[in-house]
Amino acid sequence: MTTFAENQARAQVHLDRIRERGVQHRIHGEWRSSVEGKTFTTISPVDLEPLADVAEGTAADIDAAANAAAAAFADWSAMDGSVRKSLLHGVADGIVERADEIALIESVDTGQAIRFMSKAAIRGAENFRFFADRAPEARDGRVTHAPGQVNMTARYPIGPVGVITPWNTPFMLSTWKIAPALAAGCTVVHKPAELSPLSATILVEIAEEAGIPPGVFNLVHGAGETAGRALTEHPNVRAIGFVGESRTGSQIMRQGADTLKRVHFELGGKNPVIVCADADLDRAADAVVFMIYSLNGERCTSSSRLLVERSIQDAFIERVARKARGIRVGHPLDPATVVGPMIHPVHQKKVQDYIGLGQAEGATLAFGGGSPNASGCYVEPTLFTDAHPDMRISREEIFGPVLTALPFDDDEDAIALANAIDYGLCGYVWTSDVTRAFRLSENLDVGMVWVNSENVRHLPTPFGGAKASGIGRDGGDWSFEFYMETRNVAFATTRHHIPRLGG
Ligand code: NAD
Repeated sequence: MTTFAENQARAQVHLDRIRERGVQHRIHGEWRSSVEGKTFTTISPVDLEPLADVAEGTAADIDAAANAAAAAFADWSAMDGSVRKSLLHGVADGIVERADEIALIESVDTGQAIRFMSKAAIRGAENFRFFADRAPEARDGRVTHAPGQVNMTARYPIGPVGVITPWNTPFMLSTWKIAPALAAGCTVVHKPAELSPLSATILVEIAEEAGIPPGVFNLVHGAGETAGRALTEHPNVRAIGFVGESRTGSQIMRQGADTLKRVHFELGGKNPVIVCADADLDRAADAVVFMIYSLNGERCTSSSRLLVERSIQDAFIERVARKARGIRVGHPLDPATVVGPMIHPVHQKKVQDYIGLGQAEGATLAFGGGSPNASGCYVEPTLFTDAHPDMRISREEIFGPVLTALPFDDDEDAIALANAIDYGLCGYVWTSDVTRAFRLSENLDVGMVWVNSENVRHLPTPFGGAKASGIGRDGGDWSFEFYMETRNVAFATTRHHIPRLGG
């Protein structure tokens, strides 16, 4: 394992290279400044010092990128799937080769701890490999026979698509969208989050070095309200794969209405972890701590609502508190760090405001709540107990290292509490009773449930949320369902009688 000092030195080398070259758009295989010449400056979550100057795209840049993606679509979509497969494996190889650089840059840009970013970078490569392997069969459909007719049903890439991604684990999340889109035969315009734009540049470099042709994968930086909006409104863009806040999902749906955009939304969450008295409490406590405090709690699948059976409430919370007290808050490049700074002072203030709100609402601050190291956007791992289901800290997504604990009395109570919020991304159930596990997980109004486990993703399974947490599923074949259009061709097999109208 490398040391903190080594990580800092290596991160600086990569950052200097990025700064020297400038963070620009990539359109039709060319680095471009913004048409309007604008830039914006990102800041470090560690010390608020300027990190990089980034081209600020507007509708004109999106227009150029969408047109490049439209021009490249015919050749890319017609390419044999096995060729796309080998190109996308080349992208995965490139990610593995530069995984160290990706992780360091991601850590510096987002404040998320290097120990997690190293794994996330490799996960990006796995995403490319998974969809690469499925590219040759993505179109395959079926043949059905009817009297006098044979039907050939197959899938075809929908066209150029827009991918809009958030600032949490941005590299990994963008591969989760971009890899299946490219494997399906779509061309892509990626608009990464303005708070964490750096790793998107590395991905586009890797893709083109691997031989992805110019125009197939384009990148435009900029704000959501301008560049993002223009992408969702562009007539050449057939679909939008979006990961971000639920509120933004609603906006995108409105913006895309005129062009009848197909949308796939992975949105916010306020995910319950239900801990029953009969569970393996030590493992459950480890999972609870891991799922709320890893990745700074800036994680859509974080288990931010602890629903604990009343009979074990005090003992279990004490166990969670004991484990959480040892968590190291610090510089994201320090290998010992678990919780780094929040992405940005505005987000830090949002999390701090929720902590203040929880106290004002009458919940007990069991531990944490402070903001160590005044120069950066740090927030301590925090736990609220004695919360009420109606409190905002029990219902709203805080997106930071803040856990709210609520007691339940029986399974019906646990299910009612779990479902009584707008979100429905995922849930976690801890019990040793298989019947109970089945009953609880079957009744959660969410897209995904993990039983006696933290969030462990298996790529062939569907990923996505219910209610305000999303529309559509990623993973397995579900991604191709989104990025492809199903077409049926019916062949007459007889010279049947066709009704003649008039003469
Ligand atoms: P956000 O919605 O503020 O921004 C996400 C992206 O949307 C950014 O690139 C932003 O520029 C863009 N955007 C903003 N307004 C837009 C508009 N009007 N039109 C088009 N694009 C626009 O989200 P965020 O704060 O960056 O990310 C955190 C959120 O993402 C949390 O709610 C989290 O739960 C969610 N998230 C969900 C998943 C999931 O899989 N369900 C995964 C990760 C993050």
